Amino acid sequence: MPDSSISKFFEKDQKERLTIVKNFAGLSNEDLEILEKATGGISFDKADKMVENAIGTFSLPLGIATNFKINDKDYLIPMVIEEPSVIAAASKGAKIARIKGGFKVKADESFSIGQIQLLNVDSEKAISKINESSDEILEIANAQSNTLSKIGKGAKEVTCREIQTDSGPMLIVELLIDVGDAMGANITNSMCEAVSPLIEKITGGKVLLKILSNYSTRRIVKASAIFEKEAVGGEEVVDNIILAYQFAANDVYRAVTHNKGIMNGSIAVANATGQDSRAIEAAANAYAARSGQYRSLTEWSKDSEGNLLGKLELPLSVGIVGGIINVHPLAKICTKILGVESAKELAGVITATGLAQNYSAIRALATEGIQKGHMRLHARNLAAAAGANPQQIDEIVMRMTQENNISLNRAKELLDQI
Ligand code: NAD
Repeated sequence: MPDSSISKFFEKDQKERLTIVKNFAGLSNEDLEILEKATGGISFDKADKMVENAIGTFSLPLGIATNFKINDKDYLIPMVIEEPSVIAAASKGAKIARIKGGFKVKADESFSIGQIQLLNVDSEKAISKINESSDEILEIANAQSNTLSKIGKGAKEVTCREIQTDSGPMLIVELLIDVGDAMGANITNSMCEAVSPLIEKITGGKVLLKILSNYSTRRIVKASAIFEKEAVGGEEVVDNIILAYQFAANDVYRAVTHNKGIMNGSIAVANATGQDSRAIEAAANAYAARSGQYRSLTEWSKDSEGNLLGKLELPLSVGIVGGIINVHPLAKICTKILGVESAKELAGVITATGLAQNYSAIRALATEGIQKGHMRLHARNLAAAAGANPQQIDEIVMRMTQENNISLNRAKELLDQI
């Protein structure tokens, strides 16, 4: 079993890091070549087919978080993110979680929800007609995907609920679809469109919208980890982390920032593996507000021995097939680095990374504050923005840190002096 706790990974150069990742994940020489070029992985021609009015491509850093053990399996986690300190924080959080066995994750089956907005009906009568025809509705839906049908997945249930609006009552017909290892947006939309004529025919109503819901509450993923008291910094630090969490659990201004930190970890993995990050964030934010108040997505408490216990629950709609995963070579390589074999496994990794990230952020905030570490890393960006080359960057960062004056102006002044 490969071990993801690689010592001093951050001190190695790109070639050494790539060799470690290649050996860990069994990458091919071709994979390595694509990574080494660091061009972002797609040509203009490909970009031009992906979006409209393309004029170029835009690349972001891809890094590796180390130390992750999830359900007793080691992972090197690819993360695509522009913000300094996130990958270091995830690796640090995973290192501490590892002491007590790492992360435990559990994901629901991949059920997506498709919505059909039905107008101009008596809801009670329409519900009864839809229930009577549910087998036929499911049959039409499932005819849209041979792949899902063949593997025993696909549309499984039709449900209805009435909503009240300023324009009167509406009936929302929902399809529950097991989309297997895909995000499933397109198949969900296709199924909703395919069944709509029958729904109109049997109810005499008018269908307006037919679309997937991104609030994927039937694809919940739970991650938890125990962070050993001593490694966290002792009882007082554990208590302060819980107090910091209580702030996020009960104040929306703090909760949004707290959850943004979770997204730093989760979205970076989602980006690396070619997921629809907007869908993940929209669902996560709605889930954070499910009690009626927007709260922290994580929960922090103490176990019976006084260790810190962290939990994160997310509605996650992700895939290892479909979308841009088949199109973007880096998304494919990053999925290979993770070695995930199902959408559920990927969802577990994304959630564990969010939890690791939240641990490190909340611990830093409850102790020395995040600025010290953050600014040290940010200093590199400032030195680069001032126009320094790699050798000059090291010296400028060292001097700005010593002087405790980390700013673009100071970086420019120091560059002039070198
Ligand atoms: P997709 O359209 O590429 O479909 C997945 C494909 O994988 C299907 O053809 C399916 O047959 C095939 N497949 C092979 N093996 C499978 C398996 N084991 N399980 C499941 N499918 C398998 O991709 P998608 O996941 O339907 O859609 C994702 C894309 O849709 C994303 O790029 C997303 O941005 C976009 N999208 C999102 C929304 C939204 O979020 N509201 C709406 C429309 C489109």
